[in-house]
Amino acid sequence: MSDIINILPDSVANQIAAGEVVDRPASAVKELLENAMDAGATNIQLIVKDAGRTLIQVIDNGCGMSDSDARLCFERHATSKIHKADDLFAIRTMGFRGEALASIAAIAQVELKTRQADNELGTQVEIEGSTVKDQHPCSCPVGTSLAIKNLFYNVPARRNFLKKDTIELSHIEEVFRRITLIHNDISFSFHSNGRLLYDLRADTMLQRVCQLFGDAYKDRLFPVEEESDVVSIKGYVAKAEYAKRTRGEQYLFVNGRFIKHPMLTAAIEKAYTDMIPESYHPPFFVSLSVDPSRMDVNIHPTKTEVRFVDESPMFAILRAVTKKALGQYSLASEIEFNPSTEFDFSPAPKDYMPQTPRINYNPNYNPFSSQKSGNQTNRHADNLTPSAGMHGWEDFFDEKKQTSEQPDIRKSENPTIQSSDCFQILNSYIACPTPDGLLIVDQRLAHERILFERLSSHEKPLAAQQLLFPVNCQFSAADADIFEEMMGDLIHSGFAIERMKGSNVFVVSATPDELSDSELQELLDTLIRECKGAMMEKFVDRRTRLFMTIARRMSVKSQKPLCQEEMQQIINDLRNCSMSTVAPGGETISTILTAEKIGQLMNA
Ligand code: ADP
Ligand code: MG
Repeated sequence: MSDIINILPDSVANQIAAGEVVDRPASAVKELLENAMDAGATNIQLIVKDAGRTLIQVIDNGCGMSDSDARLCFERHATSKIHKADDLFAIRTMGFRGEALASIAAIAQVELKTRQADNELGTQVEIEGSTVKDQHPCSCPVGTSLAIKNLFYNVPARRNFLKKDTIELSHIEEVFRRITLIHNDISFSFHSNGRLLYDLRADTMLQRVCQLFGDAYKDRLFPVEEESDVVSIKGYVAKAEYAKRTRGEQYLFVNGRFIKHPMLTAAIEKAYTDMIPESYHPPFFVSLSVDPSRMDVNIHPTKTEVRFVDESPMFAILRAVTKKALGQYSLASEIEFNPSTEFDFSPAPKDYMPQTPRINYNPNYNPFSSQKSGNQTNRHADNLTPSAGMHGWEDFFDEKKQTSEQPDIRKSENPTIQSSDCFQILNSYIACPTPDGLLIVDQRLAHERILFERLSSHEKPLAAQQLLFPVNCQFSAADADIFEEMMGDLIHSGFAIERMKGSNVFVVSATPDELSDSELQELLDTLIRECKGAMMEKFVDRRTRLFMTIARRMSVKSQKPLCQEEMQQIINDLRNCSMSTVAPGGETISTILTAEKIGQLMNA
């Protein structure tokens, strides 16, 4: 019998532990930014090279460290933030476990320069794979600069796991947004490969949202604010019409920290009931303050889940506050229409909850339809973006969807449908008598399918129209790079696009037929957002997603009167599609009203 147990050498144990804290460049960025904030910095610079692979550097003007702390901070469990177990219940700092720097030092080459205000000279420490290589006095500004070079240089397995630079960079950007959004009193800058991506001055939270997401957000949000014993709430929620198919722009913070909390998110979303379709999600930027002893702080540093003692009252308050904001401010914007009218603005009683106004903007409301609302919600989707989730895609790839229930008009016994035979119902459906019954085709979904297949096939790109005045579209630096990667597919789709040398501006001189100039920037923004979504999900082909969005955007709308020729064209083109029964998003395109079905309807 031989002994088989080894004690792992420290270097290996450290690397394993490090993997829990730092699994990709973005998590190292998070740790460094949090340390800078804990040090009381008012100005923080983030510099990355090659999406953090070769360099992540954070420079702050915080309190700095003494000579001996500069060395000690790389030891495991070295923290200045808690002293005894009780402190855990009053945590106000971002970090407290004393693990981050030790972990980072185990898997990278780190250079620290730091100086405290009352010292003339600072100190510089170089450390590599947990081994201190050098420490000497240096002259540097007050504060701390920490540079991480060659992350995972000694952990090839992790290094190989890293995604393309564009993906790692978008993770870093997300970390940057999650931190900068809620720390609007601190100024931040962010350089990537020598380019300035963000330059954020200390300002209001609303200004910060606009700096990060675009000035248009100023008009898209309502403020929320409430003080109560269990929670104080401050922030912004989007107007109903800016809801999206993805949850990307939902930011919830507790005590200055980004969290994910499905229940509290649901509380906000519940306030929108009846205002937006169920599959849509309103963007929001909401900050909660909670007594730290009423929440579970003993969470893993890289996780964003939190638990609260007062979860149910928080849910109720958050929903009520959001409802109030949606109700009050929708009303307020109507009042602004008529500034001469005097209103009594005396505050409402404390527990008064105005009714959420019902906004009915379903343009395809069909008074004769007895369909359940689930089907109707699809009709809201017209000018919004397709789902980034899996729903719909499964259907799309699932050939089994072509069941006998759904007529496959390709195989129709009587392929020549005479123009005179077609007619339009409610300006939204094309009806064609066939020997089996009345074929009813959703014009929008059918056209979406046709365009999608045309885009996906290489032979027949869409007709392009030359723009009278070329349109300049501008993106953030990171988005511009993603956009450049999509350009080939866009040109295939009928766009003519060129990037202006050395800038993030793209000149569009031609677009596929029927796309209006005003829709252009919005469509391109949508494409970039979805492209990022597709990259992160991995399983969906980015190109497919792109073509799907273009097809949806350009398809003939519901409620559009069509002439005989146009109807005939759609029916014929649909017949030539390789899949004619299901739209790219998974919705059913057509149905046949057989004598039997009509009989059932009559007696229902
Ligand atoms: P934690 O943040 O959990 O305490 P870290 O490993 O992130 O653990 O940092 C260890 C310690 O190093 C901190 O507690 C703090 O005292 C010091 N430190 C780290 N970064 C900075 C910084 N930018 N400025 C001043 N002190 C810092
Ligand atoms: Mg820390």
